[in-house]
Amino acid sequence: MNGIRVSNLTKRYDDTLAVDDITFTVPVGAIVGLLGGNGAGKTTTIGMLLGLLIPTAGAIEVLGHDMARDRFPALARMNFSSPYVSLPQRLSVAENLRVYGHLYNVPNLEQRIAELAAELELRDLLHRPAGKLSAGQKTRVALAKALINRPELLLLDEPTASLDPDTGDWVRSWLERYREDTGCTILLASHNMAEVERLCSDVLMLKRGRIVDRGTPQGLLDRYGRKDMEEVFLDIARDRRHAVPA
Ligand code: ATP
Repeated sequence: MNGIRVSNLTKRYDDTLAVDDITFTVPVGAIVGLLGGNGAGKTTTIGMLLGLLIPTAGAIEVLGHDMARDRFPALARMNFSSPYVSLPQRLSVAENLRVYGHLYNVPNLEQRIAELAAELELRDLLHRPAGKLSAGQKTRVALAKALINRPELLLLDEPTASLDPDTGDWVRSWLERYREDTGCTILLASHNMAEVERLCSDVLMLKRGRIVDRGTPQGLLDRYGRKDMEEVFLDIARDRRHAVPA
């Protein structure tokens, strides 16, 4: 069973082919990485998965629902976090979580907020305005917002961007545990190769809107004869395909 099934998906903005005929699946309970340099099409892909952008062509199925015809049942069961979407700045953290909780019709909302505040160490921040938090604190609040409806599918756009190494590691451990505990499916767009190597069972390599390679992190390391995903990423970015080990 697939959490996500994308078939021949394409998005064109005027002259730019941002996503060019991509096909992939994410099995339920898997963490799959979406990698690619700046402008490769990651955010556009996530935007289409969320129903925020209308595809130029192709089909998307999320949790068994066709997103073109039947998106609302899927949207209720998914959520996302992105550093590019900021929460209302003047509302406190608790108020923000309440707004999103009401949007998703979360039962026992105050209890859910308390749970998330404890799990994500937000208790001291609950009554502070969201706009006055540090980047790292905002990231944890964004994660709490993303989890408010206990999503079965999470779309994470660079979830650890701007976090210090210690907090980044803490978030990664937390995501691993969350997936183990809940069986949540996660699509993770990231520029952090170590993160992808650690969390993802499969990786999609996007370049100029196309999937140019895919596989398990270990499979890609073996195929490119490299020691880490950073080197594989550079090989792909610089068109050094299947490089011979040095
Ligand atoms: P980054 O890692 O820099 O965030 P990305 O992989 O998320 O990049 P996208 O933001 O999806 O890439 O952009 C893919 C391409 O589409 C880029 O060439 C970008 O300039 C273009 N693009 C994105 N949004 C728009 C838009 N609203 N209008 C026109 N072109 C756009």
